[in-house]
Amino acid sequence: MLFTADHDEPRRALQKFIAAEINPHVDEWEKAEIFPAHELFKKLGNLGFLGLNKPVAFGGQGLDYSYALMMAEELGAITCGGVPMAIGVQTDMATPALARFGSDEVRREFLTPAIAGDQVACIGVSEPGAGSDVASIKTHARSDGDDYVINGGKMWITNGTQADWICLLANTSDGPVHRNKSLICVPMKTRGVQVARKLDKLGMRSSDTAQIFFDNVRVPRRNRIGEEGQGFTYQMIQFQEERLWGAAACLKAHEFIINATIDYTRSRKAFGGSILDNQVVHFKLAEMQTEVELLRSLIYRAGEALVAGEDVTRLATMAKLKAGRLGRELTDACLQYWGGMGFTNETPVSRAYRDSRLTSIGGGADEVMLMVLCKMMGTLPSLKKGNA
Ligand SMILES: Cc1cc2nc3c(=O)[nH]c(=O)nc-3n(C[C@H](O)[C@H](O)[C@H](O)COP(=O)(O)OP(=O)(O)OC[C@H]3O[C@@H](n4cnc5c(N)ncnc54)[C@H](O)[C@@H]3O)c2cc1C
Repeated sequence: MLFTADHDEPRRALQKFIAAEINPHVDEWEKAEIFPAHELFKKLGNLGFLGLNKPVAFGGQGLDYSYALMMAEELGAITCGGVPMAIGVQTDMATPALARFGSDEVRREFLTPAIAGDQVACIGVSEPGAGSDVASIKTHARSDGDDYVINGGKMWITNGTQADWICLLANTSDGPVHRNKSLICVPMKTRGVQVARKLDKLGMRSSDTAQIFFDNVRVPRRNRIGEEGQGFTYQMIQFQEERLWGAAACLKAHEFIINATIDYTRSRKAFGGSILDNQVVHFKLAEMQTEVELLRSLIYRAGEALVAGEDVTRLATMAKLKAGRLGRELTDACLQYWGGMGFTNETPVSRAYRDSRLTSIGGGADEVMLMVLCKMMGTLPSLKKGNA
């Protein structure tokens, strides 16, 4: 059993916080194309929500992963995708490797303020020329005495315009592509870090997404997370939590749209009856609800395995793939039933349609998930040398 009575109190506290402190502001933040990350994260940090499964020594709650999963699912009740994603970056994308592999010194400097909500974190993996093919990134960090000197650029970085530090994946040697990378914590105020632009996006509009350049950025080598050359491996491990988070955050968001669609189609009349009375409509909504429950079961199973210390690459990959596919089918079907209103920006369904589209792309596209699964099934033909 993944969740027990012990989860009830933090779950209720988070639900209350979302209803009082987040949802009333979502429309304004979506319009502004940014939300006040420092202000919101400080409040979440004060309640302990930014470190549920992080070590107590650095301000975390020291709980197991089930609490982080509970939080990801509850964040799906936020009435947009951008704000929960930004919170997920702080808790489940930019900090898991730091919490697990970072030295005490680097954890004190970067993890403690992230858990407290005093600093905003972001994760820098993707580059203008390398998204799906993570191994081919070009940003490099050359050793110079006790420092690294970093040059290169990162693309599509969530929280990028507001972040205090970036968990940066960079090449630290010229060796084989899976063993030449390191994760390094880089304060965003360091000379040579330039937030070049905020990207204008289809969805996730309340979340800021940046392109960032690094021009001879000098940071101490002690800012590295764990061992030099292990960055690719650490990032692949970190991706499991990112992918499970991405899938779990969809569940309540999907149910919200199903229920909103039931309400709308029940009240909307055509041909002498409600739209909902058409069997094609209510059957489709029942089918979508079934798919959401199936996805939930897969995610909970992966969560249980993670709590038990098992490798969840297979289940997390499947969950992320399924969540992306389902998000597209479900929001498209629901939007259709809202007719012309579905095409306006006045209804929740159009926002869900735009926001949910990212799940099939961010954190590894559907095709990358399929590649991972095919690799595990032994069905992936070898690609170009060095890339397999
Ligand atoms: C809103 C948003 C927020 C993001 N936040 C972050 C962040 O915080 N940090 C970060 O590092 N990155 C972030 N990303 C980047 C994201 O992870 C990448 O966009 C994603 O991994 C895909 O990489 P790409 O865009 O370079 O696509 P490409 O690698 O150019 O691929 C394009 C498409 O080609 C297809 N494709 C790729 N490989 C294959 C294959 N082998 N077989 C068949 N088809 C294939 C897929 O459909 C894919 O979508 C974010 C992106 C967005 C849009």
